[in-house]
Amino acid sequence: MNPEASRCLLCKKPKCAIDGCPVHTPVPEAMLLYRQGRLEEAGRLLFRNNPLSAITSLVCDWKQFCYGHCVLNVKQVPIRWYEIEQEISGQYLFNHRLERQSLELTGERVAIVGAGPVGLAAAVWLWEAGADVNIYDANPRMGGVLRYGIPAFRLDKKYCDVFELMFADAGISFHGGIEIGKDLTLSALSAEYDAVLVGAGAEVPATLRIPGEERAVQALPFLKDPSAYKLGKKVIVIGGGNVAMDACRTAVRMGCETWVYYRKTFENMPANPLEVEEAKADGVQFKVFQAPVEVKDGGVVFRDCENVQPEDGGRVVTRIIEGTDHFVECDTLITAISEKPDATLQEAARSMENVWMAGDFLTGPATVVEAVASAKVAVEAIKAKML
Ligand SMILES: Cc1cc2nc3c(=O)[nH]c(=O)nc-3n(C[C@H](O)[C@H](O)[C@H](O)COP(=O)(O)OP(=O)(O)OC[C@H]3O[C@@H](n4cnc5c(N)ncnc54)[C@H](O)[C@@H]3O)c2cc1C
Repeated sequence: MNPEASRCLLCKKPKCAIDGCPVHTPVPEAMLLYRQGRLEEAGRLLFRNNPLSAITSLVCDWKQFCYGHCVLNVKQVPIRWYEIEQEISGQYLFNHRLERQSLELTGERVAIVGAGPVGLAAAVWLWEAGADVNIYDANPRMGGVLRYGIPAFRLDKKYCDVFELMFADAGISFHGGIEIGKDLTLSALSAEYDAVLVGAGAEVPATLRIPGEERAVQALPFLKDPSAYKLGKKVIVIGGGNVAMDACRTAVRMGCETWVYYRKTFENMPANPLEVEEAKADGVQFKVFQAPVEVKDGGVVFRDCENVQPEDGGRVVTRIIEGTDHFVECDTLITAISEKPDATLQEAARSMENVWMAGDFLTGPATVVEAVASAKVAVEAIKAKML
């Protein structure tokens, strides 16, 4: 047994679950079962609440969620619940077969667009409730960002493969390589199915809007298949989020001298601080207060930035310092600024009565656990409408 379990206070009002966790993982109940050695029951409890529990326990920014809200945070060291969750759910997932929990939905036909966290979690809940579930995805395999974004050194792809096997066994149909809006319209799906859930993520990259930008490589296609790119010796990644961290950590593993250039300070970086530390440990080098102004052959022109405190005492702003242009050589520039959902598909989804949206497609880029929480809300709405 993980000794962390005996430190848990089994709070009656667990802040880790209520305030910290977007899917309100039943930590005390699962912890008690774990202490009693009832791992199968604990696994079932966690899977029903969050079918991606084995994955979120690995990729969640736990300081922001459960760990950061543990009541022991005040005077002692918080509980590393995610370690115990991984032990329970990691075992459970690989031995699990889906079972219909109820027949609330008696064969209603549901289409899910996107086989990322939203699609995987929603398919489990809708199928277990008795629906006939069909998943469509532009990619040939299931997983969304879990398979095609987060690098394998952070998340083993066996966590996506297991869902493919589980779904095939249950008779959940997967239509891979079909892009909705191109190969098939959303209105055709809406007409064919009783309900459609769109969890198509946020994949449209934001642009720097600077000259020469077309010379840059976009982070998401790069992460999808790094072996398709010849990066050369020196790589610069622009951005300070988790995508930038995954891109730089992948480039450094491909043998490149890798730099991250970011406009503001380390404290402003939206990336999980742990990821930044791990990137540094991997050998990635960082330069802050740098804004790109032009991409040229063989490198990038940057301009220095600085933080300025407005005279009225308002919030500190970062501004570019004119006259500080300098050229930095690199063989490849990777941009990882931010992504947004496909606005055309969103507009189509909003116009149809039996279509629901969830995850990054609804909220913009967020996290795996938030996508699962969002899928849960959509599934409940679909069930309420169809029952
Ligand atoms: C590189 C990277 C690293 C990340 N790291 C972490 C992390 O460590 N921890 C964390 O919690 N979160 C992380 N995130 C965020 C997290 O992965 C997302 O919030 C989560 O995957 C969103 O799930 P989703 O199901 O909404 O969308 P996605 O995972 O993006 O899945 C959407 C799916 O829809 C499909 N699709 C899109 N358009 C269409 C269409 N028109 N027709 C058919 N299919 C379509 C896509 O092919 C994809 O499979 C990361 C994100 C990225 C990009």
